[in-house]
Amino acid sequence: MNNFSRIHNLRVKFDRLLNKRSFDSYKMDKKFSEPAYCPSCHAVYLNGRWQWKDKPQDAKTIICSACHRKKDNYPAGTLLIKGSFPGDHIEQIINTIHNEEHRESSDHPMNKIINESYEENSITVDTTDIHLPVRIGKALKKSFGGKLKINYAENENRVQVNWIK
Ligand SMILES: [Zn+2]
Repeated sequence: MNNFSRIHNLRVKFDRLLNKRSFDSYKMDKKFSEPAYCPSCHAVYLNGRWQWKDKPQDAKTIICSACHRKKDNYPAGTLLIKGSFPGDHIEQIINTIHNEEHRESSDHPMNKIINESYEENSITVDTTDIHLPVRIGKALKKSFGGKLKINYAENENRVQVNWIK
């Protein structure tokens, strides 16, 4: 084996390892004992799910999967907003995005926004989960009309939502 292919093989192995590790850490919710507490977002893991609660005294500290995704900038969902309407109604659009995030996250602490980027002709919202972008997209369509496209990928572990008006 020459040096180049050895380096290439190492690289492939390393990439696989990285992918495997990040995948596992996002899927860790079922593996650790409860109660647990995430110091980053203050969610509490109890009775098999993450909730907003006071930290139990005996809680173990663990970074939750949503905060891992946020830290790694590894979204599960993306909402792309395009068209001339959003630019002229930016406040209403931002309010809708944040209201829906608040409603979703109050019941499901693991579902939240990672990033929002506001460009001249588009808005992109990345989320930790696949439900929130769909929820925001549906709320936008209900309030303002327009066209909504929802595409799931990677065995429904990933979603791309486009809203155009
Ligand atoms: Zn967290």
